[in-house]
Amino acid sequence: MNCVWTVVQSSNRGDIEDDSTTLSLAQDIASSLGWSSKVVVVSTPTRPVDEELLRGGVDCTVLEMRSGASGDRHASTILLMAGKTNLGLVVFRSSVWADDVACRLAALLNTSALTRCCSWRLSNEGKAVFLRPVLGGAAVQECECRLGPCVVTFALDRAGKPEERGRSEGMAATVERWKEPPGEDDAMLRSSGIANGDPLDTAIDDADIIVAGGRGIGGEEGFGVLRELALALGGTMAGSRIAVDKKWIGRERQVGQTGKTVHPRLYVACGISGSSHHILGMKDSDAVVSINTDRAAPIHRVADVRIVHDYRVVVPALVHALHEHRARNRQQ
Ligand SMILES: Cc1cc2nc3c(=O)[nH]c(=O)nc-3n(C[C@H](O)[C@H](O)[C@H](O)COP(=O)(O)OP(=O)(O)OC[C@H]3O[C@@H](n4cnc5c(N)ncnc54)[C@H](O)[C@@H]3O)c2cc1C
Repeated sequence: MNCVWTVVQSSNRGDIEDDSTTLSLAQDIASSLGWSSKVVVVSTPTRPVDEELLRGGVDCTVLEMRSGASGDRHASTILLMAGKTNLGLVVFRSSVWADDVACRLAALLNTSALTRCCSWRLSNEGKAVFLRPVLGGAAVQECECRLGPCVVTFALDRAGKPEERGRSEGMAATVERWKEPPGEDDAMLRSSGIANGDPLDTAIDDADIIVAGGRGIGGEEGFGVLRELALALGGTMAGSRIAVDKKWIGRERQVGQTGKTVHPRLYVACGISGSSHHILGMKDSDAVVSINTDRAAPIHRVADVRIVHDYRVVVPALVHALHEHRARNRQQ
C-alpha cells in the first residue's frame, strides 16, 4: 500500500513545530486515496523530542539528526529511512528548510517537488491534484500527481492556538526512533546560517512576529529601540495610528480598524494603550506581550504577558537576554 509521509521539525518545547493544518491535510489526502500515513519528526540534540508530547492516532518516527546537517543530508537520510516503503507522497509545511529538503528529496526520488501549494483536490480519476499560486498570486496552477512518489510543501495558515497545534490532530499511535547514520555530510552547498532581515523590509500582513510601538514610544528614535528587539526576534515592526500619524513609522504598518489586521504568533505592544480600534487589528495574535507603564492600560487585558514598566528599560533587557540565550545555545 502507498504511504503518505508528513515531515515536520521538532520544536523548542519537545513536541512538533507547528501545525495541525498540514498534519490533518496530509491525513485527509491519505484517507481519500486509501493510503496509510505516518509522521516523521526531525529532531536535533538541541531540540530533542519528548515522546509524551506526541499523542494521538498516527504512527510516528523520530528522526534524530546532527545539528546543522545540510538539506542534502536530511534528504538522503529520509530516503534511507524510507527503505522499501512504498512512498506515494511526502508532505512538508513550507519553510526555507522544508522547501530545500523537499527539492533535494524529489531529485533523489527522480521526481519534482511542488513547493508552496495552497490546497489540493481529487481528480475525476481519483488522483491527487495540488494547487499552488503562481505569477505572484494572480493565478493558481493545478498539478496532478500521476505517478508517485510526489513531494509537496504546503504554505498554509496555521490553525488554532499554539497549545492546540500538532497535538490534537492525531500524533503517535506508535513512536519509533531512527538515527542519522554516521559519515561525512558532503553536501556541495551548505547553509552557514540565517541572518535576520531588516524588520522594515518585511510586510506585517503575514508576519509571524511583530513588535509594535505607540505614542508611548515618544518619537521616531523610540522605534530604533524596538528595531533591536524585532531584529533579535527575527520579526517585523508595526505601529498604532498615532505613531503612524506622527510619521514615526509608515502607514502600511498601521495595525487596527483603519489599518491592517494581523495574526502573528507573537505581538509585542510597546507604549500602546490598547484602544478598541487598535485591538481590532491584533486580537487574533497567538500570544501578546504588553509593555506599558500604566497598570490600567486596556492593552494589558488582551495580553498573555503583561509588563508594567518603561519600555526603554524592558526592551533593551529583553534584547540582551535573547542574545545571551542564543550564545548559550551556540556553545552547546
Ligand atoms: C474611526 C477610528 C479609527 C481608528 N483606527 C485606528 C487604528 O486602525 N489603529 C490604531 O492604533 N488606532 C486607531 N484609532 C485611534 C485609537 O482610537 C487610539 O487613539 C490610538 O490607538 C491610540 O494610540 P496609542 O495607543 O499609540 O496612544 P495612547 O492611547 O496615547 O497610548 C500611549 C500609551 O503609552 C504608554 N506609555 C507612555 N510612556 C511609556 C513608556 N515609556 N513605556 C511604556 N509605555 C508607555 C501610556 O501609558 C499609554 O497607555 C482610530 C480611531 C478612530 C476614531
